[in-house]
Amino acid sequence: MSRQENDHTPGTKVLANCGKCGLCLSVCPVYQTLKEEQASPRARLQLIKAFEKDSLATSPLLKEIISKCLMCGSCAAACPSGIDHYGKFMEMRQKMVEALGDAPAIKTMVYLLAKEHRLRTGSKMAALGQKLTPDFLGDKYRVGNIPVSRFPSLNRRPFRDAQPGRILPEAGTTSASGKARGRIAYFTGCATNYMFEDTGRAVTGILTALGYEVIIPKAQTCCAIPMLFHGAAQKAEGNIQANITALTATDADRIIVDCTTCGAALKDEYPAFIKRADLTGGLEEAAANISKKTTDILSFLGEHDLSFHPDAGSDSRHLGRAVYHAPCHSRNSFSSHAGIQTLLKTLPNLDYIPTPGEADCCGGGGTFFYEHPETAAKIMDRKREQLRAVEPTLWLTDCPVCRINLAGNLKPDSHVNVCHPVVPIHNAI
Ligand code: SF4
Ligand code: SF4
Repeated sequence: MSRQENDHTPGTKVLANCGKCGLCLSVCPVYQTLKEEQASPRARLQLIKAFEKDSLATSPLLKEIISKCLMCGSCAAACPSGIDHYGKFMEMRQKMVEALGDAPAIKTMVYLLAKEHRLRTGSKMAALGQKLTPDFLGDKYRVGNIPVSRFPSLNRRPFRDAQPGRILPEAGTTSASGKARGRIAYFTGCATNYMFEDTGRAVTGILTALGYEVIIPKAQTCCAIPMLFHGAAQKAEGNIQANITALTATDADRIIVDCTTCGAALKDEYPAFIKRADLTGGLEEAAANISKKTTDILSFLGEHDLSFHPDAGSDSRHLGRAVYHAPCHSRNSFSSHAGIQTLLKTLPNLDYIPTPGEADCCGGGGTFFYEHPETAAKIMDRKREQLRAVEPTLWLTDCPVCRINLAGNLKPDSHVNVCHPVVPIHNAI
């Protein structure tokens, strides 16, 4: 399958801008690991160009090359020609899936993510599976490059079910007239809802301690990025519309995410999707409004002067040595890396040790660790090197997939705890 485009269509024109300078190669984790030109962003763009000009046909090999990408956005951030790698890769993935289908596990994931009630049932079944799997089997079998036994336990109850829809600011933090500092809509994402409730509790705890009213819309659902990455644009549309409706109804001043991939969806992908799909009914304006209000929790905290508990630095509350892993979307969609470093340095309850490779990708990349386990494992090997020199007790990261990947690749006898930076921040205030 292919689509003819002439040189005046936007996609072709953008691709034609590639001067083949190679700057994107130096930042691409896949190319840097494999050192093969076909694994580079530059080569992928040339293949897409050839495909669009009908000089290259769909094939399993082409699909494999296109999918061997973490969708990290580092190439686009480095490209002097302003090429929309992300948009082109996403569009091409959709064409490959339409022509060749997808692996059963990926199709199941997309099916579950498209409806919240399916995800809820799926997570209950997965929790039961975790309970019943004997340790020796969990150690033997892997999902991608991660042993089953090293996947995090699922929440006993979905986080959003355990929380009221509206949480008031802590006593003593409001104005003299009892007014909250502002109203925040908290987009929890699926990972916090089903897996990492510690992140959710820390986010709501910090925000209410700062004097904010927090609304957790019950009708929110998966941000749809995994569906868009796997060519399921039609299914993604339902999720996007549901989230726009749920977030708009909160009438919040700001929308906070704890996962920057969800954040990139709300900030960048929703307006782009609505434009591409030509959706009407006020969706364009609503998506632009959501985009403007969306911030990741750590950047948001960087706007505040945090005051810490007087005992936060005491021996009994001290959490030890901490390193940080900067997720690709935190760096490329929110440019938050430097701000997070500054924030971590102020925390009295840990010693943050900056490491040279903390902004290097970990190889998780959504489902990359599952689809390309060998390459993911090689990328991860470099990350583990950071730990050797520092011997930390905490490895902090603000992306749930990075968290799963980092924790899942630690040695079983490791004493490193992997969590979102909001957890020690909440402990300190
Ligand atoms: S950095 Fe941009 S212009 Fe240079 S090779 Fe990569 S895609 Fe082409
Ligand atoms: S998105 Fe990331 S992994 Fe994919 S080609 Fe660009 S730099 Fe490489």
